[in-house]
Amino acid sequence: MPTPAIRPLPSHQSVTLRAWLVVLCGALCALLASPTIAQAEENIVRLPLADGFDYPVGPPDAKGYRKARGFWPNGHLGDDWNGVGGGNTDLGDPVYSIGVGYVVLSGDMRKGWGNTVIIRHAYQDPPSGRIKVVDSFYTHLDKIMVKKGQHVERGQKIGTIGTNRGMYLAHLHFEVRKNIYVGMHRTKYKRDFSIYWDPTDFIKKHRSLPKRFNKKVKVKINTFQPYK
Ligand SMILES: [Zn+2]
Repeated sequence: MPTPAIRPLPSHQSVTLRAWLVVLCGALCALLASPTIAQAEENIVRLPLADGFDYPVGPPDAKGYRKARGFWPNGHLGDDWNGVGGGNTDLGDPVYSIGVGYVVLSGDMRKGWGNTVIIRHAYQDPPSGRIKVVDSFYTHLDKIMVKKGQHVERGQKIGTIGTNRGMYLAHLHFEVRKNIYVGMHRTKYKRDFSIYWDPTDFIKKHRSLPKRFNKKVKVKINTFQPYK
C-alpha cells in the first residue's frame, strides 16, 4: 500500500503547531541542559597563560637556598628546599607561587603533610604549542597566605617554610604534577614521570614562556577527591 502523502496543514494551523513545538522544545532543552551547564561552569576557571616559572624559594633562582633532596621516581616525588644556613634557620621564610595560577587546595592536611597549598597553572608548551596544565604543590608550611579559589601571580607569597608541627627540620617539600587529579591521594597514582615532573627540570625548561595571545584559557577545577 502506498504511503499516504502528507498534506500540508493550513497555514494558520502550521504556524500554531510550529510555535508550540518551539515552546515545548525550548522548555525541554532548558530543563535538561541548565543544571548540566551550570555544573560544568562551576568546574571551570579561566586562567591567563603563565609567562614562565621560577623557584618557590628565593625567586627567581632559589638564591640563599639549597636543594637538600631531589626528585626520583618511586621514591621522593618532589624537591626539598632548605635555607643555606641549615637547621631551622629558614623557618618562617617566604614561599612563592612558581607562576601565575589558581589555588585549588589550601589548608591543613595534617598527617605527614600539615599546611599545604596546590596551585593550578596553564601554559603554552614551547615545542608543541599546545596548552598544558600542571599543579604545583607546597607543603609542611608554617603559615598559609592564600585561600582556595584565589588567583595568584608569579612570585606571589603564598605561605612560609615550616616544620609540620615539629615533625621535621624546617624545609619546603615541593612537587609539580602533570596529572591534575592527584591532590592529596598520591598512593592512588603511579609514582613516576607519567604523573610528576622533576620539579627542578620543569622550572629549568619553562623559565620563560611564549605568550602569543592574552586571552584566558578554560581549565578544569574541582578535580580532587575529598581527603580526610
Ligand atoms: Zn620531601
